[in-house]
Amino acid sequence: MSHPFPPPPAATVPIAGSTDRFPVHRIYCVGRNYAEHAREMGNVPEKGAAPVFFMKPADAVVSDGRDPLFPSATQNLHHEVELVVALSGGGADIDPAQALDLVYGYAVGVDLTRRDLQAAAKAKGNPWDIAKGFDDSAPISAIVPAGGRHPVDERLAISVNGIEKQSTQVSEMLWTVPEIIAELSKLYRLQPGDLIYTGTPAGVGPLAPCDRVECRLEGWAELAFTMVLRA
Ligand code: MN
Repeated sequence: MSHPFPPPPAATVPIAGSTDRFPVHRIYCVGRNYAEHAREMGNVPEKGAAPVFFMKPADAVVSDGRDPLFPSATQNLHHEVELVVALSGGGADIDPAQALDLVYGYAVGVDLTRRDLQAAAKAKGNPWDIAKGFDDSAPISAIVPAGGRHPVDERLAISVNGIEKQSTQVSEMLWTVPEIIAELSKLYRLQPGDLIYTGTPAGVGPLAPCDRVECRLEGWAELAFTMVLRA
C-alpha cells in the first residue's frame, strides 16, 4: 500500500520491566469521579445514572521522560492526577464481574486541562474537546502489568515544585474500575490498547511553564516531568 505521505507513527507507552511497548488505541477519561473534586468544581457529588466520559487523542500521551509542551490558548492550565487503566482486552456490554480480566496494567497519569476553556465551554453548553484533548495533554508513567493484582486502597498523589497538591486513596472513587469499564463498554466497543483516565481527586490547580510535576500511585508507578515553555 502506498500513501501520499508517511503514515503517522503509532502512539505507544513504555511497559515497566520490559522492552515491549503498549500500543495506544484510544484514551477515554472519566469526569467527576471523586466527591470532593466534584464539590470544588461546583457540582453536587453524586454517582448519578452514568459516569461523565470524554476522550483525548491517542497521540496526546507524553512518556519516556519527555516533558510536555505548555499548551497555547490558555491562561489557566490545570493538573489532574489520575489512576490510568490500560486494557489488553475489549468488547461491548461487558459484565462488571468480568471487567478486570480485560486489564493489562495500571499507570499514573495527568489529565492536563485548559480550565479557562473548559469553564467557557460549560457555560455555553459546548463540548470539552479543546479544554481536554490538546497536544501533550496526557502525560503518563510506564504501564505496570497487573499480574493478578489491582489497586484497591493505594494512595494517589501529585506535587508541584515539591509541594503536595492532590492526595487521595483510590478507594475514594465514586465509580470503581470494573464499573467504569462496564459503563464505557455500553457506549463504545472497547479494544486492546485503550487507556482509561479514571478521574481526579480534589486539589486541582494551575501549572506554569517550568513547573516541576511529580506524581505517584503508591506501590505501582511514578511520573515526573517539567512543563516546557513554548518557544
Ligand atoms: Mn480528569
